[in-house]
Amino acid sequence: MEDIRLAASLFFEQKQNLPLKNIAQTEFSTLTQTKRGLVTKKALDEHLRQRHPECLSSDLAAELDANGDGYLTFEDFLVYRYLFQMRPVCGHCKAIVKLVFYTCLDCFADKSKRPTYDLCPKCYLGKKFSHPHNLFVNNYAMVDNVRKPPKDVPFGAKVGTSVGVGVGANALGKEIIDAFLPGSGS
Ligand SMILES: [Zn+2]
Ligand SMILES: [Zn+2]
Repeated sequence: MEDIRLAASLFFEQKQNLPLKNIAQTEFSTLTQTKRGLVTKKALDEHLRQRHPECLSSDLAAELDANGDGYLTFEDFLVYRYLFQMRPVCGHCKAIVKLVFYTCLDCFADKSKRPTYDLCPKCYLGKKFSHPHNLFVNNYAMVDNVRKPPKDVPFGAKVGTSVGVGVGANALGKEIIDAFLPGSGS
């Protein structure tokens, strides 16, 4: 979680993401707070269930509580916002994926389908899921493949070519680059 914390703070420090930080600030201020301006784990749990009913991560608030005192700071809250901005929810166990995920290339290529179909390593490697397609790639392998096509191919096209699908991938490019931010790899 330490690495994600760092990636989250870098993300919200970027100028273009300041509006997102302001939205997060407003959202944080709607939660019941203690005198010290902290939010209880319980309040965040409830907020999570209401705001993201698609996610069934049961211990996320506890994981976000950096010092384990049962209260969350705004910085802890930003990690939560960052995860839901940048990471998928596993299509099978419905937990938010923190680092490695496997995405279905057929669903990925079909832009009319949002969100994409992604799996956490446990569900993917344990073959616990049932899905009509069977071509998956993990986020790190995808980044690695971006290096392979010739240099003069535009970045978006590189991503599309390298994963074997016709994706014009500006938005995706952002996510892929993020996966390589310092610290999100362990
Ligand atoms: Zn899963
Ligand atoms: Zn699929």
